[in-house]
Amino acid sequence: MVTKTRELETGGNQAAVDEMAKKVKVAKDNALEIMKKAGYDIGDVVQVMVDPQLPFMGYTMPRGNDKYRIVVSGGSVDSGLLEGLLVHEMSHVYRMKTRHLSHNGQVIEEAVNSFGKNVAKYDYQQKIMHDMLNDIQDLYADDLSFKVLRQSKILPIEDMSSFLQDWVKEEPSSSGDDRKDRWINAGIMIHNARAIAQMERHKVPDTGNKAAKANKEFLAKLPRTMSGQFEYFRNLLRNLDENLTEDNYRALLHNYLSKFLEIAEKN
Ligand SMILES: [Zn+2]
Repeated sequence: MVTKTRELETGGNQAAVDEMAKKVKVAKDNALEIMKKAGYDIGDVVQVMVDPQLPFMGYTMPRGNDKYRIVVSGGSVDSGLLEGLLVHEMSHVYRMKTRHLSHNGQVIEEAVNSFGKNVAKYDYQQKIMHDMLNDIQDLYADDLSFKVLRQSKILPIEDMSSFLQDWVKEEPSSSGDDRKDRWINAGIMIHNARAIAQMERHKVPDTGNKAAKANKEFLAKLPRTMSGQFEYFRNLLRNLDENLTEDNYRALLHNYLSKFLEIAEKN
């Protein structure tokens, strides 16, 4: 979940800081409660902190001993999406706590390392690979969080539609650096596939075909060798299976990354 940071005008204003902490506490308790009601009790293992400068919505970090820290941005606190964000992050926690393979860092690291040290030499390449692996983990987290949000009616279905539709980009990057553009555009294509696959997994309607249309525009602007692989990624992401074995998850990640590198590195 990415949004623009809105810096908080707290500058030493203790009242504002306290107010924010109170809101976060209320949202945290609510999120824990509706998770539990939906069958995903994570217990008392989560600390929630606000980072006023964080340039995206939030993230979760394991702290050892099955404790976790969720960090949310200052901007998320009054965004109307704070509870939804916490349910998403708590779903990551549930996946980690229950040792779901999708969140097994070692298997993921091995999959990346199987391509050798030089597979992502530049920062932008590392970020793109990180994001595409995160898309898979997010889909597994959202299999829980969408169920929770739907059951608790926190996020009405129309909002789910527009939320996911907004992720689909229609403009490819054309910086003039061919290699970089290929990497970035392959990354956008996968991210589009993820949004569309997520709608399909959760039967969220693509109202007005907005996502499909934007993606079609996007694909039309790519080289055929790249756009021709869109369906591969959409299918892979749509069909991610709840039941994984270490071997099939390893193979899935390897194929996913290798197909990506094939299109990102192709001249
Ligand atoms: Zn996530």
